[in-house]
Amino acid sequence: MTIDIFHMLSEESKKRKARRKELLKTIGVKEYFSEGRIEIDNKICQGIECKLCIKACPTNALYWSYGRVNLVEDLCIYCAACVLSCIVDNCIKVMRKRIDGRVESFSKPSEAVKLLQTISSGKRVTLVSRVFRR
Ligand code: SF4
Ligand code: SF4
Repeated sequence: MTIDIFHMLSEESKKRKARRKELLKTIGVKEYFSEGRIEIDNKICQGIECKLCIKACPTNALYWSYGRVNLVEDLCIYCAACVLSCIVDNCIKVMRKRIDGRVESFSKPSEAVKLLQTISSGKRVTLVSRVFRR
């Protein structure tokens, strides 16, 4: 009997997505990104004095255990709130893909702030053009 490893991997990924969807539904959180990845560099983390990312995470995906920040990846929605609050540049990296295919990545608070500014200036342009539409 031959084992189709690609089929098994895709089945596992489908099961993981379904499990994740169910989990997020129970806490009333909606997913905005089709895919994502998060990495935490515990070598440069100042967790003992800080833990700000844990306080900032809206889904409780981050927790403190064994003297370091840990992650429940199925609860992470790649919102980048942890990057925004982290006191060490490049300590947390969040990469995410929007539904329209755009890929974004953040590893410094300044990058997350820049995105927020782009979004609010985009909203301002839409509002102004609505008001002055001929
Ligand atoms: S905010 Fe950054 S430095 Fe602070 S505990 Fe979290 S990962 Fe570590
Ligand atoms: S990206 Fe958002 S959901 Fe994921 S760990 Fe960071 S703060 Fe929590």
